[in-house]
Amino acid sequence: MYQRSNEVETLSLYIDGEWRPASGGAYFDSVDPFTSEVWSRVPAASAEDVDSAVRAAHRAFTSGPWAEMSPTQRGRLLHRLGDLVAAHAEKLGELEVRDNGKLLAEMLGQMRYLPEWFYYYGGLADKIEGAVTPAERPGVMHYIRYEPVGVVAAISPWNSPLVLTVWKLAPALAAGNTVVVKPSEYSSASMLYLAKLFDEAGFPPGVLNVITGVGKETGEALINHPLVERIAFTGGEAGGRAVYQAAAKSFKRVSLELGGKSPNIVFEDADLDDAVKGAVAGVFAAAGQTCMAGSRLLVHESIHDVFVEKLIAFVGSARLGDPMDSATDIGPIATPPQFQKILDYIAIAKEEGARCVLGGERATGADLGGGLFVKPTIFTGVNNRMRIAQEEVFGPVLSIIPFKTDDEAVEIANDTLYGLAAAVWTQNLDRAINLPARLRAGTVWVNAYRVVSYLAPFGGFKNSGIGRENGKEAIREYLEAKSVFLNTKRGVPSPFVMRLPSVN
Ligand code: NAD
Repeated sequence: MYQRSNEVETLSLYIDGEWRPASGGAYFDSVDPFTSEVWSRVPAASAEDVDSAVRAAHRAFTSGPWAEMSPTQRGRLLHRLGDLVAAHAEKLGELEVRDNGKLLAEMLGQMRYLPEWFYYYGGLADKIEGAVTPAERPGVMHYIRYEPVGVVAAISPWNSPLVLTVWKLAPALAAGNTVVVKPSEYSSASMLYLAKLFDEAGFPPGVLNVITGVGKETGEALINHPLVERIAFTGGEAGGRAVYQAAAKSFKRVSLELGGKSPNIVFEDADLDDAVKGAVAGVFAAAGQTCMAGSRLLVHESIHDVFVEKLIAFVGSARLGDPMDSATDIGPIATPPQFQKILDYIAIAKEEGARCVLGGERATGADLGGGLFVKPTIFTGVNNRMRIAQEEVFGPVLSIIPFKTDDEAVEIANDTLYGLAAAVWTQNLDRAINLPARLRAGTVWVNAYRVVSYLAPFGGFKNSGIGRENGKEAIREYLEAKSVFLNTKRGVPSPFVMRLPSVN
């Protein structure tokens, strides 16, 4: 098993191809959620560091090797980076677990899948094609070019730090932009390690810059920087709102991937054993610390009791412990504020009258190191109007809501401010085909949960966000369309008459 070193690592910022401390010399600690001990010191980037990083990205965008590189060469660099990520997957996974406490098995799985994003978008780099429109006026040609937007600020959360950053980086770079990344203050290490791989792959200085720091200072300095033209943000509602408001001031392009309260709907004709596993994967894997958590389980009333019984038996045997241990099913909660928030919501649910049929409290024990653990918790008798059914908990807490008809299931599922994901468990073909169209969510799974792909656009309806990541659509989010009119005729007509064909 992975042996934690007792040494505290000191990390550096990556700006313009160089490693440096924060200009003010300040650091903050990153704590291993299982041991609750400091394992790394992270530089707190000042506004001056943010300015250096953005200016470096701007220089790399406007002049130098990156700006002159062909799309095919950019694609090759991304491929090389993908190979390096594959070779370093284990190291990257271990760094993530030390920062966020999620299971090594999950983080390793993510890291081994991550190269596909670099290969896919590397392949797309030289397939960004413009168009020539049909000739409308004699002697005038019109064509459309797709050009990179400029400097992109990528801001990511702690729960899947690299995956959610690479969803931004890979399409942004394939399109020819340059990027300044600000990882979460709770999980900076893997992104800084990835920057080393960028170096090794041969990306020119300034194409990728990584500045670490807290949202209120480093993050705000970044989103307000006048040379940043595009912000790609994944995180909570408050941060998302701050980004959207800052972006509005100077009309920066923005994409937001925010929270969810996703419904997982089990019909009476479902394969119940599969549906139990889907419910568990939805909210107890990753200790519920996932944006797409299936935190509302809608169960048909005719199977409600038997399903709850099966679920309790399955979840009740889950093993809590060290996330580095392959025998562990559920790891610690990543941060003390997150831990407190989960306990607060458990108390709220009890006050609201929901029935706690499993867990409902902190877990302690010899196997749990110094970590903050919450027992997997199930509430029945939940009404969709309760706060526990409406607000994102981001922890291992499941609310079960019974329903009678398909229409009622759809109505409850859509009765939320969010719209990130939803799932349907059924063996009925009509339901499998018709339900996904009626659910107001960016991703719908049928007889599956928590599946994502570099090929599949991902994003939210309603308060779950704006824009899409992954798939071909994502590359468009990092491009500007430019119209070029090219006049080949001599003898420009009178400048006082606007020539629009057949208008007025
Ligand atoms: P968070 O919003 O606290 O932080 C996310 C990032 O934004 C961090 O890097 C943080 O430093 C930065 N930030 C915070 N406030 C900022 C501000 N005012 N200006 C600039 N940057 C700011 O979120 P978190 O606690 O790290 O992550 C959990 C949240 O992320 C949950 O709500 C979860 O649902 C959401 N999430 C969404 C997705 C998705 O794809 N939709 C994926 C994972 C997580």
